[in-house]
Amino acid sequence: MTKNTHKAGFVNIIGKPNVGKSTIMNSMVGEKLSIITSKAQTTRHRIHGIVNGDDYQIIYSDTPGILEPKYKLQESMLKTAKSAFSDADIILFVTEVDHEPESEKDIIEKLQKSNIPVILVLNKVDLCDQEKLDLLHDQWAELLPEALFLPVSAIKNFNLENLFRIILEKLPDNPPFFDKDTMTDKSERFFTGEIIREKILLNYKQEIPYSVEIEVEEFHEESKIIRIRAVIFVERETQKGIIIGNQGKMIKKTGTSARIEMEKFFDKKVFLELFVKVKKDWRNNDRMLKSFGYR
Ligand code: GDP
Ligand code: MG
Repeated sequence: MTKNTHKAGFVNIIGKPNVGKSTIMNSMVGEKLSIITSKAQTTRHRIHGIVNGDDYQIIYSDTPGILEPKYKLQESMLKTAKSAFSDADIILFVTEVDHEPESEKDIIEKLQKSNIPVILVLNKVDLCDQEKLDLLHDQWAELLPEALFLPVSAIKNFNLENLFRIILEKLPDNPPFFDKDTMTDKSERFFTGEIIREKILLNYKQEIPYSVEIEVEEFHEESKIIRIRAVIFVERETQKGIIIGNQGKMIKKTGTSARIEMEKFFDKKVFLELFVKVKKDWRNNDRMLKSFGYR
């Protein structure tokens, strides 16, 4: 007779900004958990997406891209990204067809030093032909011979089912780490803040989005509506003006699109109030960073 076994483990998704890490994790988890935009550094926090089956539990972490720290905020993001190398059962190293394998040297070196099994996910294959794919396969096989090479297209949902099966195969025997009905360890407030930040990334240019932090002051769920009050913190008065826009047009646009997204996400009517406040140089202030949840 075979004994019933349960598999559970941590799958950390790493790779450069914009290669599609969040898109992949979101499809694997089946919910829009981490925000996706075409700008780098969207994902500042590690997010756990949890996929449960009767005899398995896969815990995904989506990490910020690995960049050189320019100021304290990025240092904190980098620390989070680096920890992905140490506490995983499986690493999904995501790269894309337009990246030269040689340009990923830093990550490759770290992967070679760690003993964690690596799945090399080559994303965006919808953008390349077979010839290029074969070439990339050969290059990667030389650089990371131990890794399992899997071409995917997160957007076209190509090979993600196989990715899931490979992960399940490599997952160690463990009892579940979280309650089986848990989908994520992040709060509704957290996602509310992320949605607002996503809309700011989409609506404002240049350095503005990176000078912004969101605090959800109130999240109150009633039977028919969720009442949310959030503050957008900026570093300078001039940025406050830009966020608000001429006659409040920009903040209104941001608020409306954020509210629509929240109503989809929570499947409920949302009443959203947005305020803008100046907190001088929050990015370099350790205490402020802690209060926003950066480690
Ligand atoms: P992250 O920074 O690694 O988390 O990347 P995101 O998941 O935010 O994706 C970055 C950009 O790549 C977005 O514009 C995605 O729509 C796009 N993208 C993701 N997967 C694919 C794919 O399979 N094919 C193509 N063509 N674009 C993709
Ligand atoms: Mg991301």
